[in-house]
This record gives sequence, C-alpha cells and structure tokens, in this order.
Amino acid sequence: MKKTVLITGASSGFGKDTARLFARNGWNVVATMRTPASETELNRLDDVLVTRLDVQEPESINEAIAAGIDRFGRIDALINNAGFSLFGVFESIPREKVQEQFDVNVFGVMEVTRALLPHFRKNRAGVILNISSGAGVFTLPMLSLYCASKFALEGFSEALSYELLSQNIVVKIIEPGGVTTTKFGDRLGAEAGRATPPPDYASFVSGVNDIFAKLRATRLASSEDVAQAIYDAATDGTDRLRYVATRDIEPLVQARRETSEARYIDFMRTRFLQRHDAP
Ligand code: NAP
Repeated sequence: MKKTVLITGASSGFGKDTARLFARNGWNVVATMRTPASETELNRLDDVLVTRLDVQEPESINEAIAAGIDRFGRIDALINNAGFSLFGVFESIPREKVQEQFDVNVFGVMEVTRALLPHFRKNRAGVILNISSGAGVFTLPMLSLYCASKFALEGFSEALSYELLSQNIVVKIIEPGGVTTTKFGDRLGAEAGRATPPPDYASFVSGVNDIFAKLRATRLASSEDVAQAIYDAATDGTDRLRYVATRDIEPLVQARRETSEARYIDFMRTRFLQRHDAP
C-alpha cells in the first residue's frame, strides 16, 4: 500500500525537492504551502495534493490535514520544513520580527505536530521529521534569533521523541548546513535589509559579513542532496534521532559536540572577533 507524506513549506527549496523525491519514489504527497495558487509544477504530478497551509494559521493546518486524509486515506510521515531566518545584530531586530521567527520555526512546528498526532496515535505509527539546521547545534553571530529558534526546535524534538516512542511514533531531526540553491538566502537578505545596526557594530558586522561571504562561496551541497537526506532518514526504518544532512558543517558540529566548552568558545571568539572588536 502506498504511503503518504505531508510536507510544510513545499513551495520552494528543500520542501519542493522533497515533495518531488517522495512522489518519484511512489509515495502520495500532501504538498502544503501558503499560496498554492502560484504552484505550477507539483500539481501536475500524480498522487500529489497541493493544498494551503500557513503554519501561523491553525485553521489552515487542520484543513490541510483533513484534505490529505480525505484524498489518501491516511498520513504516515510529517515533514516540518517551513522556516526562515532573520539576519542582523539582535539590537537591530524589532520585537514583532522575533515573534514571527518563533511563530514560524517553533510554534508552527508545534501546531502542525499537535494537529497530526491524534491521527498517528490512532494508527499506532508515524514518523515526524523536523528540519533543523547546523544553527540548531552551534551558533553564529548575526543569526542569534534563527539559532534560538532552531535550538528550541532541537530541544522540543528531542524531548518529544521520548514521549512519542511510547506511541510507536518516531521523531527525527535533520540538520542541513548552508545551501544556496533555495529561496532561503533571498528571504534572509530581505529580512536583513530591514534591520539597521547601531553604528557601533559597523566594524564587527563588516568582519562577520566577510566570513559569511567566504563560507557561501565554498558551499557544495544542493537542495536535492538535502531532499535525499530527508528521504533516506524518513525511510531507514530506524528510530535514530539526529542526522547531519550536509558535509560542510560536519567539522563544526563535531567541534561543538566533542571539544571542551572553553576551547570551543575560545575558537569561535577568535574567529569572529577582530582584536579591535573585543573589549
Ligand atoms: P526556502 O526555499 O525559503 O523554503 C522555505 C519554505 O518555508 C517556503 O516554502 C516558504 O513558503 C515556507 N514558509 C515560510 N513561512 C511559512 C509559513 N508561515 N507557513 C508555511 N510555510 C512557510 O528555504 P529552504 O532552504 O528550503 O528552507 C527549508 C527549511 O530548511 C527551513 O526550515 C530552513 O530553516 C531550513 N534550513 C535551510 C538551510 C539553507 O541554507 N538553505 C540550512 C539549514 C536549514 P513561502 O514561499 O510562502 O514563503
């Protein structure tokens, strides 16, 4: 019997590539997005239901889940993929943007999960994949709110995984590194453009921007690679919790997890603070 996956944020990037890949592998796909009227490709695929879901609107979540079950009979996997990143020094980001960062990346995941859990419990089966980030393992300056949201997502997912294993429902955390072939950078750039840092940060911001520019130039993983990592994790039949999805972040993830706290923080400060920035 064909299995069914529900994906949030399927209008672009990882979400869209993951929808395509599951469909290619014989799954039914509930490809959800904020503006399904703009979709021209996924709705031409067999056994893909394109439907509206805004993670900030609980009503739309319930309707999308009901539409998916109505069309395919049941849902076997959930991919909480919708997300975005603010960018800029904390002081420059208005309170309502902080709220939005958490509404989408954290509370949105909780709402979609809450809405689907009764169905998974009834089936005594289900797999939930939460798309975190390297920024859910280590932190970077100018990304404090994105990191905070993904750290929250990681903590929530790990704690939830204990509860849900008692119901035969598996939670998995996917940690991609930087991928420039999605719309993530466009949104990040637009958000950054709205935030003006106090002038005191000017030299720090310029140093950090230089480091990020070099990092962007060396990124090799594609959105399709991440989609494959998501698919592999969803179908590996294990209850493994965490998956690092791209190789670029492996050294930093390893450093964060295996280096002593003092050495790790010292290493990061040396990297990001030029001598004249430090106190
Ligand atoms: P993307 O192309 O910008 O995709 C993000 C998706 O989230 C879009 O479909 C967007 O929909 C959707 N979204 C935003 N707000 C939403 C809301 N309120 N309700 C429903 N959907 C919403 O970026 P991506 O790189 O594929 O990112 C996907 C996930 O991977 C995110 O969680 C991101 O944090 C994570 N990630 C990305 C990277 C990277 O470097 N690209 C690295 C690590 C982790 P709209 O089209 O309507 O805006």
